Amino acid sequence: MSDDLSPASLEGYVPFPQERIDRYRDAGYWRDLTFHELLDQRADETPEKVAVTGPNRELTYAELAKRSRSLATALNANDVTAGERVIFQLPNSVEFLEAFFGCSRVGAIPVQALPRHREAEVRHLLDNFDTTAYLTAGDRYEMGFDFVSLVDNIESEYPHLETLIGVADDANSLPGGWEDFDSLCETTPDDERLDSLEISPTEPGVMLLSGGTTGMPKGIPRTHNDYLYQWEHMADVAGVDSDWVAFPSVPIGHNASLNCIVGAAIWEGATVAVEPTLKPEALMDLIEREGGMYSLFIPTQLIDILEHPDLDEYDLSSLEVIISGGQKVLPHVVRDSVDAWDVGFCNIFGMAEGPLICTRPEDDVDIQAETVGRPISDGAEVRIVGFDREETVPQGETGELSVRGPGYFTGYFRNDEENADNFDDDGWLYTEDVLSHREDGNYAVFGRIKNTIIRGGENIYAPGVEDIVAEHPDIANVAIVAMPDERLGERPCAFVELTEDATPLTLDDLTEFLEERGVAVFKRPERLEVMRDLPRTEVGKLDKKRLEELAAENAN
Ligand code: AMP
Repeated sequence: MSDDLSPASLEGYVPFPQERIDRYRDAGYWRDLTFHELLDQRADETPEKVAVTGPNRELTYAELAKRSRSLATALNANDVTAGERVIFQLPNSVEFLEAFFGCSRVGAIPVQALPRHREAEVRHLLDNFDTTAYLTAGDRYEMGFDFVSLVDNIESEYPHLETLIGVADDANSLPGGWEDFDSLCETTPDDERLDSLEISPTEPGVMLLSGGTTGMPKGIPRTHNDYLYQWEHMADVAGVDSDWVAFPSVPIGHNASLNCIVGAAIWEGATVAVEPTLKPEALMDLIEREGGMYSLFIPTQLIDILEHPDLDEYDLSSLEVIISGGQKVLPHVVRDSVDAWDVGFCNIFGMAEGPLICTRPEDDVDIQAETVGRPISDGAEVRIVGFDREETVPQGETGELSVRGPGYFTGYFRNDEENADNFDDDGWLYTEDVLSHREDGNYAVFGRIKNTIIRGGENIYAPGVEDIVAEHPDIANVAIVAMPDERLGERPCAFVELTEDATPLTLDDLTEFLEERGVAVFKRPERLEVMRDLPRTEVGKLDKKRLEELAAENAN
């Protein structure tokens, strides 16, 4: 265990105040472990257990620990040292875990770029995070884009970018100056050197990125301590067992996968099964092939699987617990999933910044369908405040979710402006999400403050109306957004995907359907757009920002 307890020193990182560090340690919330120390513990306990398995390779806990030591030795020899940022742009793969733990051993901070990010995002990270290394997939994986060529062409513009690493079957396919990832993982480990490095668990061990629907992604540094605190509690509430096979269904660098699935699995010493292609068929194949038991899906992915024409041809009976998160899930999707697979359902409200509020697998299905349950840990300080951010609202009323605690981040990286807007002087984070704390103790989500549709002064929380629209038998998926209106300010516009065998649907049909269900007139969509595929963000959420733009076209 590391005993370097020095205050955080990374420029542009907002450290936890010492008083809170002390409090979290005293309460036993923080265990003062680093990511690699956790891995080493698991490797000691169950060296032969498979830690990670992919389509072509698998590693036991002992092998993963060893290869990450080799990589760390090579990184160190390349002058990648504590606090330095390393861009990861990798598919869901065995190599991701080798690299993640390798960086941890030298104190380097993996910056979690996504496979769907492109030149603008990569340049943004290079410009603003002073990253000294970049790691991506070469010819081993199809990433839908040639990142090796992109970065090779622009790297001379970034003198601080010193180390380029590619995952390749054929090392010769990498341009000159690039390191071959596999060769680095076969370096003889310099255990003495690695063991002498003091990596502080109160310093950032990973940099997550905020969703990029509004501008460029923001850096969300998470310390070993606060992130492991969540791995532990996520594993606990989902009931993850060391015999389980967990599989990330969204990009592995996204908090939804890294924290809730991969992290929780490693915490318990379970097996992580990875599949680079996240298409429904590939995920169903993985479940059948590996006996997949535990994953987190974006709601649209669950709809794609439930509606898949070949669903019956796959054996998905190994599923034990599934989580839906990232966006509000339609209640019938929860019920249909539970019916189809007899699973425990965790409906989670999650943010890379920290908040994880979720239903438990053993909760009643009505609670799972209608709420996001309770915070995953006792240490979480969670409150719902009025929109003026002055007072906590009475229980049962809607307001803005505000959080603080041992599992939450302390500020965006190098972003004083966002931090001034989102934190108060006592360290409370204001999330801009509208929730209520119901009388039964569960939290319910009403959407983003910015996505609230204000029609002639009346507030419309789109997700509540979406839930009812989705009950229409011809509608498979729906998003309701604001369209500008000269007189009323905004009016609701519904974008829908129809089911395979749907009959044509008009706005009048929908209005009649909502009228029968007693939906207030002002909440009913005033325009209906049928789309084959609703637009998605880089992690697969419905892209409401894009839909707002579409709604604004020809609005009046
Ligand atoms: P990210 O960290 O990029 O996944 O984005 C977090 C945001 O996703 C939150 O601030 C919410 O707006 C939204 N979100 C996550 N989970 C849910 C959920 N269960 N219901 C509604 N919105 C959600």
